[in-house]
Amino acid sequence: MADVEQVIIVGSGPAGYTAALYTARADLNPLVVEGFLWGGLLQQTTDVENYPGYPDGVMGPEMMQQFRDQAERFGSRFLTDQASRIEPGADGEPHTVWVGDDAYRARTVILAMGAEHKKLGVPGEEELAGRGISYCATCDAAFFKERHIVVVGGGDSAMEEAIFLSKFGSKVTVVNRRDEFRASAIMVDRAREQENLEFLTPYTVKEFLPGEDGKALAKAVLVHAETGEERELPMDGAFIAIGHEPQSEIVQGVVVTDGNGYVLTEGKSTRTDVPGIFAAGDLVDHTYRQAVTAAGSGCQAALDAEWYLRDNPAVPTPASLEGTGDLAEAQWEPAGR
Ligand code: NAP
Repeated sequence: MADVEQVIIVGSGPAGYTAALYTARADLNPLVVEGFLWGGLLQQTTDVENYPGYPDGVMGPEMMQQFRDQAERFGSRFLTDQASRIEPGADGEPHTVWVGDDAYRARTVILAMGAEHKKLGVPGEEELAGRGISYCATCDAAFFKERHIVVVGGGDSAMEEAIFLSKFGSKVTVVNRRDEFRASAIMVDRAREQENLEFLTPYTVKEFLPGEDGKALAKAVLVHAETGEERELPMDGAFIAIGHEPQSEIVQGVVVTDGNGYVLTEGKSTRTDVPGIFAAGDLVDHTYRQAVTAAGSGCQAALDAEWYLRDNPAVPTPASLEGTGDLAEAQWEPAGR
């Protein structure tokens, strides 16, 4: 069995990398299981204008590279792979993070898996994903040059995507289920300033349909949210930007989550209901969901983990005591909580 780590961080957005930075600076030698697409949702974002310290803004991927570099500078180690399972240790024993067939044991685990794009869940969405339907303008905008693009949603993400897409498409139509927008006024105003951008409200999407080839997206059936009237809207591409859901599958049944899958933590701390397992960032937060708040909670999780390790010293094992002469006096009870 491999050595027991002090801390393993699962996930790598602003929360994960900040937790890595702090635990590395606390000499805890963190191992970050960062996923294949490290950097989280910010890897799919363009300009970040609201992170303090970047007066001219910064591109999301560049910011994540900087977060990662800073954590690495103090000794964080990275595993660019996906954690598949987490097994809590019983009675203060180390926890196990599974990555494929490899088990990594750690006295503390910080969960920072973030969130992923929410689906509408309407007919045609799954079938036409990647064939006209996308969840990432930065990734796919170039496929829709001079085409009619629809953006579904009315939050800041939808506005950001729509503004970005208006540089590519001949026309962008934002479809929102209400006449009001959840997005901040400044983002709505900026969207309104785009000459080729229009709003269609209050409509919900009932269904996406392919064209005659049966393969690529060609139109959607919309329903007026108040009158129930249906209409068809032809389109070449649709970008769904209706929010996010937590990536908590691998900890379902391991730590307590709420009805929407967000990991629950104790009071203002990052402590989950399992001693030694902490959670931070969008995995926990369905209210603020900002890069800066995620980074802040990553810092809190690192400090909570550090204090847990301080207050729950490791129990010596026969292997760690071999040759020290202390073997006979060793206490074999597991560490307290
Ligand atoms: P959000 O604020 O939760 O907005 C989701 C939008 O999608 C709302 O308009 C919502 O409508 C709509 N929606 C949700 N489920 C839907 C469904 N099933 N069918 C149709 N419409 C649906 O999510 P977000 O826009 O991703 O933003 C998340 C957070 O990130 C926010 O705090 C936001 O400020 C922040 N953010 C900031 C920036 C920036 O400042 N540059 C950019 C992106 C995101 P209702 O309003 O009717 O619920």
